[in-house]
Amino acid sequence: MARTKRVVRVGNKLLGGDNPILVQTMADIKTSEVERILELDRNLSLLGNDLLRLSILDQADADAFKYLSSHTSTPLIADIHYSYRFAIDAINNGASAIRINPGNIGSLENIRKVCLAAKSKGVPIRIGVNSGSLPKEFASYKSEAKAYVDSLYQSIKVMEQCDFYDLVLSLKSSDPKTTYEAYKLADSSFDYPLHIGVTEAGASYTGALRSAVALVPLLNEGIGNTIRISLTEPPRDEVIAANQLLAAMGLKKNVPTLVSCPTCGRTQVDLFRVYGRISESLAYVKKNIKVAIMGCPVNGPGEAKDADIGLAGGKDCFLVFKKGRIIKTLPEEEAISFLLKEIEAYK
Ligand code: SF4
Repeated sequence: MARTKRVVRVGNKLLGGDNPILVQTMADIKTSEVERILELDRNLSLLGNDLLRLSILDQADADAFKYLSSHTSTPLIADIHYSYRFAIDAINNGASAIRINPGNIGSLENIRKVCLAAKSKGVPIRIGVNSGSLPKEFASYKSEAKAYVDSLYQSIKVMEQCDFYDLVLSLKSSDPKTTYEAYKLADSSFDYPLHIGVTEAGASYTGALRSAVALVPLLNEGIGNTIRISLTEPPRDEVIAANQLLAAMGLKKNVPTLVSCPTCGRTQVDLFRVYGRISESLAYVKKNIKVAIMGCPVNGPGEAKDADIGLAGGKDCFLVFKKGRIIKTLPEEEAISFLLKEIEAYK
């Protein structure tokens, strides 16, 4: 199904329509610590992050956007609660988009002022509902998903009343099923692009799996224009998880595939350590390459014979194989170096 939502511009990226699905994450550093933010941004960009969201807690954070926006090409999204003034300052200081909750930003007059500032700079606004921000009046709904959508509709009307249509919508529940249903309903109700994700999904594989339960069917149905995999982990893990999800679904190219076996009694090497080293390096590679890290030579090269290159553990050494054919045997460190060089040379 085609993604047919309106298109908004977020800095140098287009969001919506049939444009690529953008990956985003949120910095875990105070925005006013500008050099640390820029270092984080550089690393996240190398990992394939498209949009970076930054919290505005105080005036120093709102002011920091001036320096930050002139030192990175990554579109920066300002996340503001309670203060319409910070929202206006962030916009005037170069934010590429802002995220507000119209319900906590103050009077209609103040929202109108934010919309005016955003309009004058061509800055889109994300509005959304999530588990923590559903107004009480919707609490009695039988369908939580419908409550989310009706609550969001209320916010959309406020923005449209202010003659503002450059919107991105989100409806994040911490429950994957509710998230899925809410976005399905929103997709058929509104024409605005959708930022999709499960909120408070948890850490590690728990968070990634809970996110995938909602996002995979949505993306398969053509729903979602930008994704965040919210994890109780550093932002880099969110970016890696989002790219892996999109690549596994065939929605993003130039993301390496790393296959590896679970290990078993036949394993005579520290496969977990080798896997860690290779996956860390591969996260920065932008190629359609398939790499295999297998625990033994009995099944390894055979099971991973479609891999472009791989390692299979032997007795305190590794067999290097290409397309299932063993080309050499090396000790661990040399095997890792050889593999990384081969990956670098791969075209
Ligand atoms: Fe066990 Fe070898 Fe299969 Fe890995 S590839 S699970 S070590 S048999």
